[in-house]
Amino acid sequence: MSDLRPGPTNPAKVGPWGAVGDPAPSAARASTPARRVDGDENPGQNPVWALVSTALLAGLLWWLMGWVYALAGIVGLLVHEYGHVLAMNRLGMGPARIYIIPFLGGAAKGARGAASEWIGVLVSLAGPAFGLIAAIPFFAVWAVTGDPVWLQGAWFVALINLLNLAPAPPLDGSRALGPVLARVHPLLEKAALLGVGVLIVLWGLERGAYILAVFLALGVFSHLRRGAWRPDTAPLSWTQAGASLGLFLVTGAACAAVGLTAMALYTGDGLAAALTASGRFFGLAS
Ligand SMILES: [Zn+2]
Repeated sequence: MSDLRPGPTNPAKVGPWGAVGDPAPSAARASTPARRVDGDENPGQNPVWALVSTALLAGLLWWLMGWVYALAGIVGLLVHEYGHVLAMNRLGMGPARIYIIPFLGGAAKGARGAASEWIGVLVSLAGPAFGLIAAIPFFAVWAVTGDPVWLQGAWFVALINLLNLAPAPPLDGSRALGPVLARVHPLLEKAALLGVGVLIVLWGLERGAYILAVFLALGVFSHLRRGAWRPDTAPLSWTQAGASLGLFLVTGAACAAVGLTAMALYTGDGLAAALTASGRFFGLAS
């Protein structure tokens, strides 16, 4: 997940978790053309709280799914968020930082908002695209040890990034596809994102993924409450809208390909079996 709203404006802090004991220089603060949207000051996550949050998230995943999912969940989440951070820093939103949310996941937050919707799309897709890198060590350990449990880790990394591409607020997919739909018609974005959000919440309840369902329900609810649907930035041109859609589809295909590769190697039974196994997970096959 990425948060395109601006955080604090402090160029002296650079790390994704922020530097410690580094008071904001007021001159630098004043010289930065910060675009404050909601006015929340956010000095970066307290390192202790970040560790506690990470431990809580890992503990929950371990308890629910096993150790390899806990490991893949944390590594996958951090690499995913770091992808957002790299993009934010590169595209004028930095310095960005990672926040770990207990039991739920994480978010990357830049010091400034995206200067245009196009930048917002690129930052949103950077998480899932870069996040796939986290699958490499799991494939590598499987290749060395031959233990298929590591393929489950690689599969989970792909799944995390694929799920984040779901076009439901507050997931990355809604920030990547939303501006494209709004380019066609503002109401289309609203209707589509809320519709998909409701579907995913229902799917989460059906699958017993209650935490995911509550998380997404809160996201959908906050979007319903929010008055200004679109941030006040340069909208996508038609070319950028086409490029956004293309990048979204390519990123989604890459996530699916990594996940299906891991699943096919795990079942040892080819692509068809991998598709069936994945479909079973999503409740689409029995
Ligand atoms: Zn993300």
